[in-house]
Amino acid sequence: MKFQDLNLNAPLLNALDDLGYTQPTTIQHKIFSVIMSGRDVCGIAQTGTGKTLAYLLPCLRLWKFSKDKFPQILIVVPTRELVKQVTEEIQKLTTYMNVVTVGVYGGVNMKPQALEVQEGCDVVVATPGRLLDLVLDGSLKLKSIKRLVIDEVDEMFNLGFRTQINNVLDRLPAKRQNLLFSATITEEVEVLMNNYFETPERVEAAPTGTPLENINQFLYHVPNFYTKVNLLELLLTENADMSKVLVFTATKQMADDVFEQLDTKFPDQAGVIHSNKAQNHRFNTVNRFRDGSYRFIIATDLVARGIDISEVTHVINFDVPDEPESYIHRIGRTGRADKNGISITLVTEREQEYLAAIEGLMNYKVPVIPLPENLIISDELTEDEKPKVRMRETLIVLPKVSESKGAFHEKLAKNVKVNNKVSHRDKMMQKYGKPKTRGKKK
Ligand code: AMP
Repeated sequence: MKFQDLNLNAPLLNALDDLGYTQPTTIQHKIFSVIMSGRDVCGIAQTGTGKTLAYLLPCLRLWKFSKDKFPQILIVVPTRELVKQVTEEIQKLTTYMNVVTVGVYGGVNMKPQALEVQEGCDVVVATPGRLLDLVLDGSLKLKSIKRLVIDEVDEMFNLGFRTQINNVLDRLPAKRQNLLFSATITEEVEVLMNNYFETPERVEAAPTGTPLENINQFLYHVPNFYTKVNLLELLLTENADMSKVLVFTATKQMADDVFEQLDTKFPDQAGVIHSNKAQNHRFNTVNRFRDGSYRFIIATDLVARGIDISEVTHVINFDVPDEPESYIHRIGRTGRADKNGISITLVTEREQEYLAAIEGLMNYKVPVIPLPENLIISDELTEDEKPKVRMRETLIVLPKVSESKGAFHEKLAKNVKVNNKVSHRDKMMQKYGKPKTRGKKK
């Protein structure tokens, strides 16, 4: 199957040619005709399957030039990184078209974004909160929207955007096509579709919970945090093929800690991103990773979700996520668009139960690799890893009253205070054999 086999037009085919894409991925060719037919669609696809292009191609194919200032296509995504990425993708695909695309997201001044949408545009890519703000503020008019895409909807619900999504959906024209993409179809996603979609056709890139076939998964059993750091250091030192490595941690603190440990050993080769880092820092870090100046970045699940970096050679799960779906999302960052990738997970005793849940969801047992012989096993523990010291409840037995010596017993010799003060008069008596006064008081 080639892109030429799809009902695409010359401007899009030329743009695809420029991008060097020749063959559509599974989801891209499966979903194309369904979207072209105008039906509502529920795409079950993880990142890495080529799902962005899967909805962009038919949406842009169906787009018609209009003198209208108001946008026809609305794409809602959970993070600002994803806004940037999707906007860039559209700009590349529309090189030979007259399409104006605007990306809007929170955390920055709204004024310039408001002005940009007011000037007129065809496609808007937005995070839910900022989108609603722009609509309520009157800058963005939704009356011409013909196609709505809600991408990574499961993540949007995780982030608590349900109210904003419902609010936006309530304000859209009734006659429109709805497209929704999610890695997992939860009950909340079902409710959303029941309320707002018209008998959506389901298209699956891979059944829910099934990892991509082109990702080789492995794991190491590691005793603690510092041994994990040693192992990561060793792997990066000994494997030159680890050229674009995405290291995941569950928390911002852990991301900073791992970065601190590795930055000295690999100066200028590592970056760290999480939601406490300024947006510019996040964009710059991702760009340096993308262009290869950083060999690896350490990221939390949330910010890593939206970033598109092709050819990530290895995903390293520094910890095991407690939600099995997060694991699927994480490893989906490698092996993108039918390329092979490797995922390595570092598992401590405590994380075994999370691993069991992941393996249960995937119905796949991740192969275990023995620890390298030259790995230094640390016995240092983090505060979190230290066993919690429980105070033993000691029963204090008081002596019976009859056994007690009462309050007036003799003091122990060492506790007996002796008054050694010698009076001036006695001192004088000892020295001169007679009392000597200091003289009469006046
Ligand atoms: P996505 O799953 O949409 O996040 O896309 C994953 C990556 O695959 C992105 O970097 C896309 O640019 C790339 N990609 C998407 N479709 C294709 C294709 N047909 N051929 C090669 N690369 C693609």
